[in-house]
Parts: sequence; C-alpha cells; structure tokens
Amino acid sequence: MKLTILGCGTHIPEVNKCNPGYLLDIEGETLLLDMGSGIVRQIVIAGRNIWEIDKIFLSHLHIDHIIDLIPLFFTYKYQLKYNGESKIIPIYAHSEFEVRLNQLKQIYGDWINSEKRQYFHKKIEPGTFHANKYTLSVFLPNHSSHSLIYRFEDSNGKIFVYTGDTGLSEGLIRAAYSADVLLVECSCRDEFSIECHMTPSKVKKLIETSKPKKVIITHVFPDNDDKTLKERIGVFKNTEISIARDLMEINF
Ligand SMILES: [Zn+2]
Ligand SMILES: [Zn+2]
Repeated sequence: MKLTILGCGTHIPEVNKCNPGYLLDIEGETLLLDMGSGIVRQIVIAGRNIWEIDKIFLSHLHIDHIIDLIPLFFTYKYQLKYNGESKIIPIYAHSEFEVRLNQLKQIYGDWINSEKRQYFHKKIEPGTFHANKYTLSVFLPNHSSHSLIYRFEDSNGKIFVYTGDTGLSEGLIRAAYSADVLLVECSCRDEFSIECHMTPSKVKKLIETSKPKKVIITHVFPDNDDKTLKERIGVFKNTEISIARDLMEINF
C-alpha cells in the first residue's frame, strides 16, 4: 500500500497545511480519503492526477472533509481535453450523506454531472466488506452522527486505518488494533481536551491499548502542532510515531 498525505491540516487555514485529504493506493486501486478545501489542487502538486481516482471515502460530512467534491466534479465535467476511459466513482459515506448530495445536485445541477465520471452514494455502516482484493472494516468513532472509521486490509495482511475526526471510543480502539499504519487525528492539546477529538494523552492510551506498529499523527490544530507534540504523546518500544506533513508518502 502507499499512503500520500495531501493535506494534514484542519479547517483552520495554515501556510503549510491543507485541509484534510489522503490518497491510498491499494491492490491497483486509488482511493481518495476525505477532501477538504484545496485537495483537488494538492493531488496535482503531489504529482498525481484526478482521473486516477477509483473510489472516494468520506470519514464524515464536516465541511473541512468534503467540500472539494464540488470542484472535483466540476473539473471532471469541464476538463474537456480528457479523452481517457469513463468511470463511475462510488462515494462511500454515512447514510446522512444522501440528503446533502441531493442538495448539492440541486444547487449545482449539470455543472457537477460529468459523463466521464459519474458518481453515486455508496451507503456504508459498521461491518466488514470485501472489495476487490482487499477487505474494508468500518467502525464508529466518537465525533458526530455521520462519522465512520475505515480499516483496510490488503491481500498480504497489511492493515491501514484512517480515523477521520474522533475522540477516544470503543470503535476506535477496535479499529486500530494491531494496525501496520494508523493515521489518527490529534486535534487538541490536553489542556483544551474535548470529547469529540483526540489529544496527545488519548493517543498514548490508544497506542497502549491497540498496539499499532506505525502511527501517523494528523489533523492537529495549530496550537497543538509544535516541536513538543511527539514527546507529549510519548515513546513506545514497538510503535513508531510520525507527525504528518503535506505531500509525505508512506509505503508499506
Ligand atoms: Zn476535521
Ligand atoms: Zn469533524
């Protein structure tokens, strides 16, 4: 698998961090995980191409995770020189997405309706599903009614987990168990802890309980993202920690 960090930021604008968005290459498919403002451009900056995307996964429906759907499908419609194959893109998301997608269609109509890239809402709920050569397991985080955690396992048994936004929850602990790569949010400092987001000490607890092999910290609010972040999480014998940066690539 290959993970590309397109944007490791939050909704707060920062010079070096885009809103959240990630590419996951798995078993010959390119998956786009979340797409906050600026992600369409980040795909190009990362040396990739919007036409490569096979599937979209939305962790939840907050604006910093989904709003670039509009420029993406507008571009699919009006990048007129594209002569490649047509594809239908499933957008995996919570059932609440249905209403919002219909509202977006009402606002933007034909402008986001491309023959070359049609799309549909693939409703998803907790459980395990087989897709192509990999398995997808879905868990509930502690964030909003429309949030989901995605755990992918490829045919070699490698496991990747994307938490989206979440606080510490039973679902998160189960999702992260023994992951090869865990992409986890750490929005808040412990002094400003809120239930629906992670903090360094919650990440520490998660690592101690779920024992992932490699942890990549993302979606960190600016006041929490300083040089001490890694040491505030802790040092672990069998878990390596990295702080995500835009355009970072992780092969595993
Ligand atoms: Zn967010
Ligand atoms: Zn959120």
